[in-house]
Amino acid sequence: MYGLKKDWMLEPRPRVFCLDDYEGAEPRWCPGCGDSAVLSSVQRLARDKQLPPEKTVVVSGIGCSSRFPHYMATYGFHGLHGRPLPVACGVRSRRPDVHLFVVTGDGDCCAIGTAHWIHAIRYNMKMTVMMFDNNIYGLTKKQTSPTTRKGSHSNVHPRGAPLSPINPLSTTISITNASFVAQTVDWNPVHLYQTLKKAHEHDGLAFVRILQRCPHFTAKIWDDFQHDPNKILLLDHPDGIPADDTLKRIYKNSVAHDPTDIGAAHEIALREDVVPVGQLLWNPNAERYDHAAAWGVDMSAADRLEGAQSSMDRFLI
Ligand code: SF4
Ligand code: MG
Repeated sequence: MYGLKKDWMLEPRPRVFCLDDYEGAEPRWCPGCGDSAVLSSVQRLARDKQLPPEKTVVVSGIGCSSRFPHYMATYGFHGLHGRPLPVACGVRSRRPDVHLFVVTGDGDCCAIGTAHWIHAIRYNMKMTVMMFDNNIYGLTKKQTSPTTRKGSHSNVHPRGAPLSPINPLSTTISITNASFVAQTVDWNPVHLYQTLKKAHEHDGLAFVRILQRCPHFTAKIWDDFQHDPNKILLLDHPDGIPADDTLKRIYKNSVAHDPTDIGAAHEIALREDVVPVGQLLWNPNAERYDHAAAWGVDMSAADRLEGAQSSMDRFLI
């Protein structure tokens, strides 16, 4: 009929995703905000890996960077302050099939979310956690955060922060069962992309601290490291994030660091003379709580109903 070929009509077309397929709402971050660089990198990674948007989830807490899920055309959850990690653990425990990204900030993760940070690292459920560190609470207009440097001025400490900051790298490395810890900077798109790619490929929870520029409130904090690349220590190793020639040309101060050496990872994390970038820690043998939590994921609807019914029957009088 009408000369149409049935087999041609029914053949499914292969889906090919472009950058546009991951672009959500128009970002409302300040001009020059480092968050935009991370957004571009994640969208590029999703395009290069051809992650189906309907199989990708971005979970965030509260803060400037936590607007991230609105700007991705994927599933997203903009949650409560400090709570992206328990939400992400919940997503992972029921959906082992999705690509899961978590966005948190230095205030969100290292202050109100600290307990969740510690336990999520220990649970080691597969997800890519991006901790945007601009040393300040940006959304609430310049309050001291746990990573604000001693002596830096803020609206709550106009005479300077009185305490030394928390070190998110050494803290994460110290948590039992930590499996992947890396650091990168928003102003080097090559290193940023390679770090996020490696983190996404990791089988477990990958914690990435991203040194993020906030031109509005902490404009000068990373200037030294941006203008003098010798103050960056490039970590290079085949089991970590191998540095390519482009990076080695920029960052001449490099060291071969085996990320399975947790002692060396600690020492590097504590260095104050340089900012290390690359993978500090890798433990491929860390236990995964998502393997235990996924029990029953494949049950049929009838089996679930029967299970729920028999649970309720225990309370019959
Ligand atoms: Fe970015 Fe800072 Fe503006 Fe927030 S206040 S959007 S972190 S530049
Ligand atoms: Mg912040």
